[in-house]
Amino acid sequence: MIISVASGKGGTGKTTVACNLALAVGYCQLMDYDVEAPNTSFFIKPDIKHIQKVSIKQPYFLTETGADFSKCAEFCHYNAVAVIGEEVILFPELCHGCGGCLLVGPKQAVREKDVVVGEVKKGVAKPNINYYMGDLRPGSMRTVSLQSALDKDIIKSELVIIDCPPGTSCSMVFSVKDCDYCILVTEPTPYGLNDLQLSVEVLKDMGKPFGVVINRDGIGDDQVEKYCRDNYIQVLAKIPNDIEIARYYSRGDSIIDYNPEYRQVFENILKDIEKELEL
Ligand code: SF4
Repeated sequence: MIISVASGKGGTGKTTVACNLALAVGYCQLMDYDVEAPNTSFFIKPDIKHIQKVSIKQPYFLTETGADFSKCAEFCHYNAVAVIGEEVILFPELCHGCGGCLLVGPKQAVREKDVVVGEVKKGVAKPNINYYMGDLRPGSMRTVSLQSALDKDIIKSELVIIDCPPGTSCSMVFSVKDCDYCILVTEPTPYGLNDLQLSVEVLKDMGKPFGVVINRDGIGDDQVEKYCRDNYIQVLAKIPNDIEIARYYSRGDSIIDYNPEYRQVFENILKDIEKELEL
């Protein structure tokens, strides 16, 4: 079973929920798909055993051949190529490595090279967690390329917990595309509600079952709960706004470390999900 943990907005406690769920259940593949800012390792403290570089194909142009590269620029859906006079410019951050330049460009004058966009780090953590993390190279925008590399390590017959990127962009959609259930983490504020509503729309469009965890319960107002009630969305758990939880968090300790009674809260989240999915 794959459970993705997402949030419409950063800083709501998505990673806290993913890590504490993994620690409470005790056995899983924990996968950090938040490749631009992976921080599950801060709480899980894995022993990294293997680091694999992830690269993409990128075209380069042999301008000394005098060939005309205008077809590459015309073809590129992402506007990653510009031809100005005899100059051809590649904007690498826009290139998706689709290989189109090679197909439509002048033969022998367009080549491809491997460009490293990041790393996948694999390790183990206690109690029985197999850990995987994508770490995007600074300046690279190829989040989905790195997430695709992580996808290859998923064992669907196991419990898989994915810490998604925040927001509702394509990298979030990629992180929930194969999940059986999505936990949406939010906070009870107008911003939290607005971004929760955006995430709910995405998941509904994708036909994914989901429930909500309200973090920092006690701040803000009751509009998130009202929204969930009005829309028949299950609130899986509420985590109180507690300065001690924040202190433990800032030291890289889990909520379960702070208060072992929270183990039951996270175990119950899994039970509720299994019940909804009739497992
Ligand atoms: S490889 Fe594809 S995305 Fe990259 S520049 Fe060529 S056409 Fe554009």
